[in-house]
Amino acid sequence: MKTAFTARRLYTPVDEIPNPLLLVEDGRISEIFSRSAKDAPGNTPLVDFGDAVLAPGFVDIHMHGGAGLDLMRAMPSELPRLGKFLTTHGVTGYFATTVAAPLDATCAALGRLADAIEAAAKESPTDSAQARPLGIHLEGPFLSHKRRGVHPPECLVSPTIEVFERLWQAARGHVRMLTIAPEIPGALEVIAEAARRNVCVSIGHSDADMPTAHSAVQAGARHATHTFNAMRPLDHREPGILAEVLGNDHLSADIIVDGIHLDPAVVKLFLRAKGHDRAVLITDAISATGMPDGRYQLGPIEVDVKDGKCTSNGSLAGSVLTMDRAVRNVTKFSEWTLRDAVQAATLNPARAAGLPAHGVLAPGAEADFTVLSPSGEVLETIVRGRGF
Ligand SMILES: [Zn+2]
Repeated sequence: MKTAFTARRLYTPVDEIPNPLLLVEDGRISEIFSRSAKDAPGNTPLVDFGDAVLAPGFVDIHMHGGAGLDLMRAMPSELPRLGKFLTTHGVTGYFATTVAAPLDATCAALGRLADAIEAAAKESPTDSAQARPLGIHLEGPFLSHKRRGVHPPECLVSPTIEVFERLWQAARGHVRMLTIAPEIPGALEVIAEAARRNVCVSIGHSDADMPTAHSAVQAGARHATHTFNAMRPLDHREPGILAEVLGNDHLSADIIVDGIHLDPAVVKLFLRAKGHDRAVLITDAISATGMPDGRYQLGPIEVDVKDGKCTSNGSLAGSVLTMDRAVRNVTKFSEWTLRDAVQAATLNPARAAGLPAHGVLAPGAEADFTVLSPSGEVLETIVRGRGF
């Protein structure tokens, strides 16, 4: 089945197309052009979103849950509920992200997530729009004790190929991203092995000095996790991991733009350092996202949520941020345009994570897109051409 979509403008996201026509066939984009060049094919149903913007669906590569569901505990049959919630915030794909937990519990969670990922990949495109789990992000257990944040100290493990292999097997190869502290003995070997398996290795939860962070990049790391948070701070005479993350153009890096994890001035500095092609927005959202204040689970961790702030024993414990709000915050905290901010939530994370058919509106890509008001509010979200 063929459908045509139009609106005031479209972000590819690198380019802006005025009066666009987006043609979708069997869940994939077949053609994109401006209606000033030619008109819609006469026999194709046309969906007109008026003065809205068509943008690629947001891709959240660091997300622990939402709508009351914690991904360390959720059953595969519950994930569609989370998927529907996420589409109301413009997200069409995400990496289910773990937290450090006892290894048996982690492996059980990885098996459930692998089931959910395989089920979502098989779903026919005629189903209602739901954001899909596209892979697994292992946040832990190879984290620094000193920069662990709320990850339980007794669940942190020294990096070895054996432990990594066990997690890989439990996840049936669906691990797409690994956050690891490069300074822990054994980390560089695991980084190299994970990179060989096309995992996006991300340095974070780390107290590394600059040379160690650089060695991680040479071993295969290509990204950094929630820059500034759970990292050795930048010091002008002891630059540390942050100088490598901000200064090395081979690394992309992500940030949590909820106005709580980072001061807006630091967001601005980060965007200037990483630039339009390497800055990535994440939510680090937990089960409490879209829910009232109260007490929630994040894997084995109990989190108190009050006025949008998530804490556990006084430390920040994820967020209740949504991707659409992160995008709007970028336009408020910096000079970046809505299109720039959309790129940091779509193409940049998809590139960092090795997802070529996502985060972009181009012929051959999945017809996953979101319809935004000119100020960045989500009006509709379409997954594989469905959901309008
Ligand atoms: Zn996280």
